[in-house]
This record gives sequence, C-alpha cells and structure tokens, in this order.
Amino acid sequence: MVRHMYPRRSCRRFFPAAPLLTVLACAASALAQNPPELKSSPGFSLGNIDRSANPCEDFYQFACGTWIKNNPIPADQVRWGQFDQLAENNRIILRGILEKAMIAANQKDADTRKIGDYYASCMDEGAIDRIGLEPLAAEFARIRAIKTLQDLTAEIARLHRQGIDVFFRFSSDQDLKDSTSVIGDMDQGGLGLPEKDYYFRTDAKSAETRKEYVAHVARMLQLAGYPNADAARQADLVMKLETAIAKDALDVTSRRDPSLIYHRMKLAEFEALAPSIDWAAYFTAMQPPQMDSLNVSVPVFVKGEEALLKTTPPADWQSYLIFHIVHEQAGVLPKGFRDENFAFFDKYLRGAKEPAPRWRTCVSATDHDLGEALGKSYVDLTFGKEGKDRTLELVHQIEAAMAQDLKQITWMTAATKQKAIEKLNAVSNKIGYPDKWRDYSALNIVRGDALGNSLRCNDFEKQRRLQKIGKPVDRLEWSMTPPTVNAYYSPQMNNINFPAGILQPPFFDKKMNDAVNYGAIGAVIGHELTHGFDDKGSEFDPRGNFNDWWTAADRKSFDDREECLVKEYSGFETSGGVQLNGKLTLGENTADNGGLRLAYIALMNDLAGKTLPKSGGFDEKQQFFLGFGQIWCSNATPESERLQAQTNPHSTPRYRVNGVVSNMPEFQAAFGCKEGLPMVRDGKACRTW
Ligand SMILES: [Zn+2]
Repeated sequence: MVRHMYPRRSCRRFFPAAPLLTVLACAASALAQNPPELKSSPGFSLGNIDRSANPCEDFYQFACGTWIKNNPIPADQVRWGQFDQLAENNRIILRGILEKAMIAANQKDADTRKIGDYYASCMDEGAIDRIGLEPLAAEFARIRAIKTLQDLTAEIARLHRQGIDVFFRFSSDQDLKDSTSVIGDMDQGGLGLPEKDYYFRTDAKSAETRKEYVAHVARMLQLAGYPNADAARQADLVMKLETAIAKDALDVTSRRDPSLIYHRMKLAEFEALAPSIDWAAYFTAMQPPQMDSLNVSVPVFVKGEEALLKTTPPADWQSYLIFHIVHEQAGVLPKGFRDENFAFFDKYLRGAKEPAPRWRTCVSATDHDLGEALGKSYVDLTFGKEGKDRTLELVHQIEAAMAQDLKQITWMTAATKQKAIEKLNAVSNKIGYPDKWRDYSALNIVRGDALGNSLRCNDFEKQRRLQKIGKPVDRLEWSMTPPTVNAYYSPQMNNINFPAGILQPPFFDKKMNDAVNYGAIGAVIGHELTHGFDDKGSEFDPRGNFNDWWTAADRKSFDDREECLVKEYSGFETSGGVQLNGKLTLGENTADNGGLRLAYIALMNDLAGKTLPKSGGFDEKQQFFLGFGQIWCSNATPESERLQAQTNPHSTPRYRVNGVVSNMPEFQAAFGCKEGLPMVRDGKACRTW
C-alpha cells in the first residue's frame, strides 16, 4: 500500500553533490558506442512561460505553454514532461554505469558482475532470438499435459515462484491492524488487461479494446506454437476465463479502501474458501515460513475462482497459462513477441509510435530486478551527504508548517487535533538511498541467459517477500530504487521517502531561489506528508495501524471537505476524452492541495516578511506558483491519458496544477485574479488541509 507521487509505468511497473550537468558529463564519458543524445537539463525557466495566456484563466498553460510547444513527445515515449526528462537523464547515467559493468575487467565485485551480466544478456537480442522458446519447452510440455486439479495447482505454484501471478497473487504485507507484524497476503490477480473494468465497460472504445486484446492474445499464442485457427479459438477461451476471474475482483477505486481489502483469517478458514486447490501442495512449493493465519484481501474473489475451477475442465486452462508466461516475459523472448507486445500495450493502449530503444528497456529491467545493486553505483556517482542534509532541513520546515496549519484549522476539535499532531510527530523520513543495501548473494545471474535471469530474479524477489512473514518489520527497507524520479508515503510505516533520483532540477535546483524550490520540491514534500492525512492515510494511526482516531463529528466535517474535491476533479476531462474519477484520485488530490499550501506556509515562514528580487517581472509569490506549475509541464498521448484516467490514482498534469491553484486565495492574490475567472473557484473552493 504505497502511495506514489507520480504514476509508475504500468508495463511492469535532491540535491546531487555535483550539479546535474557535471554528472551527465561524467556519465557520458563512460558510455560505449552510440551514446544516447543527452537531453537538455530539465528545470525552471522563464522561457517555459506562455505570456500570451492569462494566468487567471489557465495557469498551467501560462506556466508551461512555451515548454509544451517546444517539447513534443519523442516517438518512443507516451508522455514527455519535466519529470520524464529527468528520469531519462537518470537512465542515461545508469546506462553509463551498466556499459562499464558489462566489461569483465571492471567486474571487481559480485554486484557489479551481476548488473553487468544481467544488462549484457538483456542487450543481446541476437542470442535471445537464436535461443527462441527452447528454455520454455519443458514448461509448455508440463502445461499441455495438465489433466487434473493437482496438475493445475502444481503449475500455478511453479509460475508464482517465477513471478507470473496467474489466478491470484500470494505475497506478504504488514498486517493493516498490527503494523509491527508481517503476514501472508492472498490477493486477486491473473488478468492481462490493466484493470477489472476493462472487461466490463460497455462503451464502444472499451469494446474495441477487448477485441484488440483477443487478437493480441491469439497472435501471442501463434508465436508460442499454436496453429492459426486454434490460436483464435484459444484466445476467445482465454478472454472468457479472464472475464470470469475479473467478475469477483475489486476495481481500482474500491481497492483504495483498506476495510475492503483486509480480512485476516485462519489458514484453514482460507483454504475452505477454495477447496478445489490443493493448498498443502501449493504452500509446500511456495515455501513461506509457518503461518497459521493470513490476510485474504478479497474473499469473494477466492470463492469466485473456486466456482470457476469447479465448472472448467482443468485442461481448459492450458492456453491461459501459456499466454501469461509469454505475456509476462515478452521483453526477453524472441523479436516476434517483443513486437507484438509493443503493438498492443505500448502502441494501441498507450499511443507510442516507436518501440523504446533496447538500452532503455534493459536499463529499466536492471533497475527493476537488481535495483539496489545498480542504485549503489548511481548514488556513489550522484548523491552526497550535502544533498541529504539540505533535503532533511526542508522536510523539517514543511513538517513545522503542518504543525502550524493544524493549529489554525477551525473545523476540527481539540481532541482530534491533538491526535493529528501526535501522528505528525511520529512521521519518519528517509532521504536518498537505503542505509542498508539489499543482499543479492543468493541470486544467480548467468551471462547469455536473459529469460533465465528474469525468472530467477522474480523467484528471488518472491522468496524475499515471503520470507518476511512472521519476522520483525524492516523499517530501513525502501519500496523505490535510488534513481527513481518519484517519492512516497507509506501509511503502515508512517514514513515519507525521497529517492536520490528526484532530488535534482526541476525539483530542487541550487541555481534557483527559495521561492522556486519551495514551489517545486517543497510541494512534493508537502504532498507526501499530507498523504498521512488524506481520505485513506487519515484512517491509520501514528503507529501505522488501520485504526480510527477521529471523533465522529470531525470525520463528518473531513468527509464533507473531501466531497468537495471529489466533485471538483470529477468535472475535469483528459485529452483521451475520459473524465477524471474524483473518487479514485481523491487521496492524490488531497495531497496535492494540502502539499502546496504547506510549501507556501513554509516559504512565508522562511521569508519572514522579506521580499526576494523580482525575476522576469514576477515577485516571490508568483515565482513560487510558477515553480510549482513547471514541475508538471508535459505532453502526453491521448491514449496514455485515457489509460491513466481509468487506472491511476493521480490526476493528469493540467489538473494537478489548475485544480490546486484555483482552490487557493493565495494564488488569486498573487496574480490579481478577479472573481468569475476559471482559476477563481470563489465560494466553491475546496480545502481540507
Ligand atoms: Zn501521492
């Protein structure tokens, strides 16, 4: 249950010691042949502004209009913004590290050897194409021999060990009601489309998407060796089975509610929900530590699968299993699979025109599978103690702003306020990178075996998660790798986390004044801190337990304020022709609105009545809002905005800016906006925090 500042790519998923450009130059000299073009460094610029726009009518256009005009989406991307530009620059640094690590003479330690061999194997598309499906032959033969439920159970476990979550997903999590313990977690899974509702929406576009998906499944099955006519028939069957699985799954909006995904029960009680599965055999294969109880996130989903297993001959699942293997592993399978996967998931669903260059795919895969081995080198190259200290200082200023803000709030009684302050005081901060790095010594990486490496990494990660069951919670652990351009709040840890990757321009820029930096990284810090008090975070206590600490009347006042945000954001339409879902995005919108206010209060505290020199004719308050607006400058394909609106809890960039500033009288005062203009919500302005 991690909240992210920005959507992660759903396909799988501040302050550098040296200025970014210097770092990029170091990385560039380490690159081998054909270095990728270094993108211009992202950052705040008066040149990004569109002075022909009226800030009171469309502040996003005003802050970003010229940037938007001058920065079209590269053909191999589906979204291109200041965020993505920074992420791409980080990937170029990682590429430099990996190309060095590929060379045997540079492999002086085990982690360098592992990341170098993993990356080299991923890059060697010739070998991947030559080897073909040979490594999967035995797996496919076992699947084609499935006749009984025992055979099927054994295969489900084998695939789960390899990270291919057919039918359901088994992992571990902190107990929502006892954050000191880690328990087994049985959750819904097993779908190929992005989300439950993709199987059931009745509009024409959704029907078309399902038709395209079935055609994609058929082509993947053909590539896996099915004769054409049979592949089409089997694809229909896969779609029928996935639709039946999806029927009892929870949709993305419902999954935000902790009470709907928490059902701790005895193991025997769980097993009785789906007696068709030989659970003893399953758990023997998965090897979790001894468990007598676990969380069953969605019991009705398990019951639904039981009914499905009862009515479907076990052999009917063969094509479903084979499709999910080639679907999950497409990136390390022969060209036909890679092209077909691109055609449906990147081109059709996200609007990409060209596939990503191989180096980017392999950098992302290494970051995903060996992130802390790679991240160690990244941190050595880019992040120093100075960065950590300066960021912590800012975090403390934003926390002080929140304490001040809580005291001023009028809709909350003293009793609940006291509890809120206790929770705020209990928030811990993690900045940059882990104090203790992950140990990969038990993981075997074989040069020349890209598919095997991917499957072994999945198995390693699955076991790492399962072996946490029953052990004390590791509070030093990170859920993001150091180069990630993102940040998160964990309600169960009650901590905020800022990877080294985000602590650079445009978020934090040594060349910029406090006004711009508070508007940018200050708003990010405020955003993460506010997550502890958003519609869901507020249901967790200072120790990270799902536990109500509100009086009923205060909760009612809170809910009324949140309802205002639900209405506001539900009225926004994305470029893909889909309305934002105000309920799905409520937590993020609460964090965006609260976060910018906290950053504003902290800046005012810092300035203590002083003014800063004007820049481009803008005073410090205007610079603050421009600094905020410009972190979101971006272009996106209509397809990717549509996908985001339907699956992602974050609003699209235009509304992350305009939705927030139109609620702030401080913004309207800064730009002299008159009533009746779009960036002035007058009596309708929303404010929770
Ligand atoms: Zn967030």
